[in-house]
Amino acid sequence: MTTLFISDLHLDESRPQIVGLFEKFLRDDARGAAALYILGDLFESWIGDDDDSALASATATALHELGTHGVPVFFMHGNRDFLLGADYARRAGMILLEDPRVIDLDGERVLIMHGDTLCTDDLEYQKFRALVRDAGWQQRFLSMPLRERRAFAAQARGESRKHTAAAKPEIMDVNPAAVIAAMHRHGVRRLIHGHTHRPAMHRLGVDRQAAERYVLGDWYEQRSVLTWPLPSADR
Ligand code: MN
Repeated sequence: MTTLFISDLHLDESRPQIVGLFEKFLRDDARGAAALYILGDLFESWIGDDDDSALASATATALHELGTHGVPVFFMHGNRDFLLGADYARRAGMILLEDPRVIDLDGERVLIMHGDTLCTDDLEYQKFRALVRDAGWQQRFLSMPLRERRAFAAQARGESRKHTAAAKPEIMDVNPAAVIAAMHRHGVRRLIHGHTHRPAMHRLGVDRQAAERYVLGDWYEQRSVLTWPLPSADR
C-alpha cells in the first residue's frame, strides 16, 4: 500500500475546477492508500473554524468520507491555513500534526514539514510568521468579527502577492543550510515538504551521507501527488 503526500492545493471558491479535482482524488486514488498526508496550504486562506463557507463544509465532508473508508488523513499547517483548528480537523476527520514532524515509513524515518520555516533568507516573511504564530495574536484575531478577519486575510494575500513578485527568486526558496540543519537535527536522510511550489527531488549530503529532499508541487494547473514508496533509482 502506498502513502500519499500533497500540499499547496490553495483551495478557493474562485477555482472550482481544482476543488473538483481534489474531491475526485479523495474519491478515487486516495481510497486505496495507507494514509494521506496534507502538508499545508490545503486552503488559500483560513480565518477561523467558525467561518462555515460552502467550500470548508464540502471539503470537510469529502475528507471525512475518506476517513470512513479506513484511510487516515494527517494535516500539517501551511502559511495560509495555519489557523485551521481542532474543531475543523474533527469535522474533516483529520489528525493535526505539528511542523516539523518525523514519521516512520516502512521503517525509514522521514522528516515532513510545510517548508516555510526553511525559507530563512526571507526575513520579512519570517517576521510576519513569528507574529501570526503567536498564541496571543491568534486569540485576538479569532475574537474579531468574521467580516474584519475576512478583510485582514484579503489584505494579507495582497501583501503576499506583492512581496512574492518583488522578492528575488532565491530569497523565496529554501536556504540550503537550513535544510541540512533541519535534517541533521532530526537525524533523517529524507525530507518531504511543500510551500515553494517548485516540485523536484534534490540530492544532498547530510552528516556525510547521501540524502534526498522531495518538494511537493502546487495544484494551480493540475494535481500534484507524491507517492511512497518513492520512485527513486536507489530503492
Ligand atoms: Mn505555503
